[in-house]
Amino acid sequence: MNRKIVEYLKMNEVEYKERFSLAKLSSVRIGGEAEILAFPDNLRKLVSLVTFLEKTKIKHKITGRMTNILFSDDKYNGVIIRTDRISDYQIDNCVLSVSCGSSIPYLASVLCKRGLSGFEKIAGIPGSVAGAIIGNAGAFGMDISSCLTTVTFFDYDTGEVITLDRKNLEFSYRTSAFKKMKTAVLSASFLLTPSDCLSVKAEMDKYKKIRKDTQPVGIPSLGSSFKRPGESIFAAKLIDECGLKGHIIGGAQISDKHAGFIVNIGNATANDYINLSEYVKKCVYDRFGILLENEVEFVK
Ligand SMILES: Cc1cc2nc3c(=O)[nH]c(=O)nc-3n(C[C@H](O)[C@H](O)[C@H](O)COP(=O)(O)OP(=O)(O)OC[C@H]3O[C@@H](n4cnc5c(N)ncnc54)[C@H](O)[C@@H]3O)c2cc1C
Repeated sequence: MNRKIVEYLKMNEVEYKERFSLAKLSSVRIGGEAEILAFPDNLRKLVSLVTFLEKTKIKHKITGRMTNILFSDDKYNGVIIRTDRISDYQIDNCVLSVSCGSSIPYLASVLCKRGLSGFEKIAGIPGSVAGAIIGNAGAFGMDISSCLTTVTFFDYDTGEVITLDRKNLEFSYRTSAFKKMKTAVLSASFLLTPSDCLSVKAEMDKYKKIRKDTQPVGIPSLGSSFKRPGESIFAAKLIDECGLKGHIIGGAQISDKHAGFIVNIGNATANDYINLSEYVKKCVYDRFGILLENEVEFVK
């Protein structure tokens, strides 16, 4: 596998690293080596690479900024594709057109400078546009799908590049149609509201401060580990009521600032993270009869 893919990457001028530690790039600083880590820097290279990997049946996984994936401690015997170099964008009046790997916080700061409103509540989500769309990421009662208009993706099954309107993409709480499809999300467009730079900045600062006051900002994590189990039932509250804040397994800890976050306080392994999240689920189930669902994806 290695020789075949390395030849392909060289020939197609895709930068790559061999046997690269995923812990170095994952926001929770956990993960074994990837046999190959590839960095396509444009959409053409991304589509061509996934087509090649599908055809040659080489195991692979597209990632954005790795802020919602827990990689196994074992070696990933395949190709991890990181898309953060595919990050161009265009703004035309109130329409933002953006490629998959663009960072949400960076885009929010650009929109703020242009006096465009729409990203203030999600500005603190550290992922890519594609990662956020796939999981319909959101914060403070707003999901990314609310200002999204279209998504363009490569469909593995048909080999076609397709653009669909938001209403056809089954967005709901932390999910979308992409969760069930085999696709590479390529780009998206958003409709923003004209405002002014100062008001947008004031809103962004307000939400940034709330995050800073209530979340373990700066400590390696994958954000909230569990989905909200009901409209007004919060996983963090249930975990807190079980007395689990600060609970540690190995190097993983239930944040003592926000019980929904599992943080890496030392040299946490994926097993520490998983064992801790299973323990949390058991405690919450035993006490409240509610089964928490992971928000984080485990990749091995
Ligand atoms: C400190 C912190 C705070 C957070 N706060 C929030 C929050 O407030 N709200 C929230 O919803 N989330 C939050 N998160 C979680 C995370 O940032 C979001 O889920 C984010 O949208 C994930 O984007 P990503 O680029 O990191 O995706 P990744 O973790 O890289 O990938 C997530 C999924 O998307 C897939 N994927 C990524 N790009 C593509 C592509 N181009 N084509 C096909 N598949 C792709 C991956 O295969 C994977 O299945 C937080 C995380 C951290 C670390």
